[in-house]
Amino acid sequence: MTSHLSLRARATSPSATLAIAATAKRMKAEGIDVVDFGLGEPDFETPPHVKEAAVHAIRDGFTRYTAASGIEELKDAITTKLKRDNGLSYSREEVIVSCGSKHSLFNIAEAVLEPGDEVIIPSPYWVTYTEQIRLVGGRPVIVQTREDDGFRVARSAIEPAITPRTRAVLLNSPCNPTGAMIPADRLKAIAALAVERDLLLISDEAYESMTYDGHEHVSIASFGDAVKRRTILVNTVSKTYAMTGWRIGYAAGPTDIITAMGNIQSQVTSNPTSIAQKAAVAALIGPQESARAMRAEFERRRGYLVGRLNAIPGLTCTKPDGAFYLFPNVSGFYGRRADGPPIRNSAEMAAYLLHKAHVVLVPGIEFGNDGHLRLSYTVSMDALTKGADRMERALGELRS
Ligand code: PLP
Repeated sequence: MTSHLSLRARATSPSATLAIAATAKRMKAEGIDVVDFGLGEPDFETPPHVKEAAVHAIRDGFTRYTAASGIEELKDAITTKLKRDNGLSYSREEVIVSCGSKHSLFNIAEAVLEPGDEVIIPSPYWVTYTEQIRLVGGRPVIVQTREDDGFRVARSAIEPAITPRTRAVLLNSPCNPTGAMIPADRLKAIAALAVERDLLLISDEAYESMTYDGHEHVSIASFGDAVKRRTILVNTVSKTYAMTGWRIGYAAGPTDIITAMGNIQSQVTSNPTSIAQKAAVAALIGPQESARAMRAEFERRRGYLVGRLNAIPGLTCTKPDGAFYLFPNVSGFYGRRADGPPIRNSAEMAAYLLHKAHVVLVPGIEFGNDGHLRLSYTVSMDALTKGADRMERALGELRS
């Protein structure tokens, strides 16, 4: 029988991070003591006042369909947040609430890309970007950043990649997987380039609240009206408020694009969960202490772990400015072996560390860089210590 799957379905890979999480879960279920550096979510509880808002919503019977693009109360909370934290003024018509920011990003791809249109993405990148763009027939165009430049993208890397088919530049600062933040002067130069060449800017700001060493997140849309008019800002309550399971993300941008995204969403998912929308209101405009506490704890862990990793001979790790990821370079170990065949790439290194040391990391190849692994420091300090000890031991056993 011929395959009933579409070419698109056959060409789409499952999320690698979720696949690795499943393996780790299986090992844990078998009673193996696994240190899980693979997760892309905070190890904190959703704040109590946010949970309470959801409970109230249920008790009040707020359990029916809402407007497909989100309730006005949440759109108002989002515009309040964008003003408060980013200095940006948006109207309700310029905001859409989706089932996570992953969903907002897919709506954008559907709303603005024709088959063959190109989107420039700095590498290393979150793998969902390239998969979503391909799903709608677009073409991701990858531009490299340099490790010795802290993986920060510059206008000079983007400009040569522009062709007549380029529609958009997709930025993610702070970045998953590197934690890199694009400095304000570079953002400004990229914004100017987008205006000169009439490109859209898609700005994924999911990790904006997790910035360290006094760095403050700057939204590229804040560099004046000409930039704001061509920027679609994407954000989420998932990371900042430890709400990954609630599935509330949002986008703010030009009314025509946001309206088109809403039309598409109305035919695909209808509204994001009514109860979760009420919880997101409480998260965005309620007390912000939990987000600050989380940032302080992540900063402490980052400092510890960067030190531990850089003390392992053969491994190097840049100290990122944001997010909750490290992206250590393990390519110095390639060609070496322990009991098995030589390790040749990031997938084999991740498999080695999983089976030898019971430590979960994500292969860098999933983010476009095969010399590295991604590590989330979303585990307790005890687990961080144990994981670093185990990595040190396992890597120390590799011989040429
Ligand atoms: N953007 C980036 C860079 C991410 O790493 C993630 C999640 O891992 C998301 C967006 C999606 O988050 P959500 O769909 O939970 O809002």
